[in-house]
Amino acid sequence: MTHAPVATPAIEQRVRSILDGLSLAEKIGQLCLANGSGGHVSESLRHAVAEGRVGAVLNEVDPGTVNELQRIAVEESRAGIPLLIGRDVIHGFRTVFPIPLGQAATWNPELVEACARAAALEASETGVNWTFAPVLDIGRDPRWGRVAETLGEDPCLAGALGRAAIRGFQGEDLSRPGRLAACAKHFAGYGASEAGRDYNTTSIPEIELRNVHLPPFEEAIRAGVATVMTSFSDLNGVPATANDWLLRTVLREEWGFDGLVVSDWSSIPELAVHGLTEGDRESALAAARAGVDLEMASTTFADHLASLVEEGRVSEARIDEMVANVLRTKVRLGLFERRRTDPTEVPAQETAVRLDLARTAARQSIVLLHDRGGILPLHPESLGSVAVIGPLADDPYEQLGTWIFDGDPGQSRTPLDAIRELVGDAVEVRCARGVATTRSRDVSGFDEAVEAARGADVALLFLGEESILSGEAHCRADIRLPGVQEELIAAVAETGTPTALVLMAGRPLALQGVVERVGAALFAWHPGTMAGPALADLLFGRACPSGKLPVTIPKVTGQIPIYHAHRNTGRPATPGAIVDIEAIEPRSPQTSVGNAAFHLDAGIEPLFPFGHGLSYVSFAYRNIAVEPAGFRPPGSVAVSADVTNTGSREAEEVVQLYVRDLVGSVTRPVRELKGFRRVRVAPGETLRVRFELDASDLAFHGRDMRRRAEPGRFHVWIGGSSDAQLRSEFELLPPVSGSGQGTTESG
Ligand code: BGC
Repeated sequence: MTHAPVATPAIEQRVRSILDGLSLAEKIGQLCLANGSGGHVSESLRHAVAEGRVGAVLNEVDPGTVNELQRIAVEESRAGIPLLIGRDVIHGFRTVFPIPLGQAATWNPELVEACARAAALEASETGVNWTFAPVLDIGRDPRWGRVAETLGEDPCLAGALGRAAIRGFQGEDLSRPGRLAACAKHFAGYGASEAGRDYNTTSIPEIELRNVHLPPFEEAIRAGVATVMTSFSDLNGVPATANDWLLRTVLREEWGFDGLVVSDWSSIPELAVHGLTEGDRESALAAARAGVDLEMASTTFADHLASLVEEGRVSEARIDEMVANVLRTKVRLGLFERRRTDPTEVPAQETAVRLDLARTAARQSIVLLHDRGGILPLHPESLGSVAVIGPLADDPYEQLGTWIFDGDPGQSRTPLDAIRELVGDAVEVRCARGVATTRSRDVSGFDEAVEAARGADVALLFLGEESILSGEAHCRADIRLPGVQEELIAAVAETGTPTALVLMAGRPLALQGVVERVGAALFAWHPGTMAGPALADLLFGRACPSGKLPVTIPKVTGQIPIYHAHRNTGRPATPGAIVDIEAIEPRSPQTSVGNAAFHLDAGIEPLFPFGHGLSYVSFAYRNIAVEPAGFRPPGSVAVSADVTNTGSREAEEVVQLYVRDLVGSVTRPVRELKGFRRVRVAPGETLRVRFELDASDLAFHGRDMRRRAEPGRFHVWIGGSSDAQLRSEFELLPPVSGSGQGTTESG
């Protein structure tokens, strides 16, 4: 089934007429994405562009240089084709929004869209017309540094937010000033890199690929994403960059994608390193045949495609197809009409609006893990002093997170700065860094930190991971707090001063034994430019926390992979069946710990489940109803429940809907997210929240790799996390004109 925007005859005609006027060398030039020279046009790039040997440039953000490059391409090259100008605009440009994982914690598609739009506006002013975002890899291994760039562990959440980001970058009409072509990456399976080590091999059964890893990409294609980037990784023995099954069968034939496919940085020559090809020439051949259109950074296409065509190993028809995919993207972007970048054409967005958006996004991304000590929110009126401790309390750079090429730490507002402003002169703010960096093992700053805490009414600890500890190639084998931060927490907690812990990190951390030490804990990811005001708003109750975990937080690293949508096993552990390693008597018989699927030293539960996040109020969920109790395609079922704000102030809640398909022709997850909605509820108010599900929402790929919804019973939950307890059930009935197989084709 085709979902991609249908190519209009006018665009196709235009693409064809440009293509027809190109020599083979010029065609190959369109397939080369060269790295910029950083603020000037180097002689080699000038010649390459003028001679039509380059069709796109990345990493050039100086407007004068970009315009000069475009001028050379249009006026000096024979074919006169403008350039794609690519950049990693991942979570903001100058203004930095929360890292994608943080944005995912907002569970707010409108907000994610607004952040992408604002980033597109800022980036467009420089002449950039293409962003390498969003990352749609499923993040189920927090050791992997790039989990920071993902939209979390769940295909439904990542799909919805990825779609929103694409809408934000591209708008309705990609050719309007201020829009960027988006890039769904890294296609596909990259998030499953073994051991969470970047670039590592992935082994993903096709059924798992189709049910978990591919759906966000399919959504992106449906949303009209202009481009797709291949993954670096080896997928089941065939690296994604040479994987014709992925790039042709799935992407083009099944999904009808007609935009361009770009390799990742040097991922074509790396095919030889993988051991798939012998040298660059064969790598170029493998990638071109498999379906890569544009080569990023390396030059195997430039060096070898012409002779491969001459030898008949790559057909001219394939070259034309590749070039058409590039040209179609340029036409859609309106580049032929708008060669020069004129910042005044880009719709203006006031700085204050952008900063306010960054503050809202950060605020909604922060997750209140617990407030067992009942210490939040803080009331400045009743505080004499507050201790602000930790290396991330006042670091304008580290709060921005990974991939901030263009981010401006000069704009950052830090927590210390914002807390000082909020409490004014009436409250003493006692500062101590505690440790020099999050990785430091030097405890010489502990005394000062303990002193600051001891003399204060409350201690606020800002700890976690510096930005360098997550992102590409920045993986960790042990995801506990690095350095001596656990010891610092213990030392501060021992003062007896009520302590709230704010964690900034690019990944979920293993927090067993850590969060229990403090009265309250907030997980803030890397919140970006407005980290400080957003955190101050929450800590001092100017706003209620409303972020929800887009990933499961494990107790210990060894529980990984741990995610909510797991399958049941034949011997699932119930809480009563779990035996703790310390409870085992010496010389106990082997059978004494039972035979269930748990760890002796970690049980079965995560520390905090997917979807978890508290507020300063409580929400009660009641009266779940399904209507009708059984439905037949093409009908649907409405699932609704009452959500009551039992607190005394207005707050937002992310209402989540999960289902379980009780019996399937292949085993199904114990819970799957199927819907979510962020709602604002007044104190004492009850909202009826209603979701509608049809057969396609319940569909999955079966053993034959076909997508179907299978008739049968489903459990359904509505609640505030993947631990929701309010349950009902419904039945999917076979279609009247059923095939007799008892299955329903859909999707
Ligand atoms: C990354 C991509 C990125 C590209 C260009 C690669 O190393 O994997 O995600 O878009 O570099 O910077």
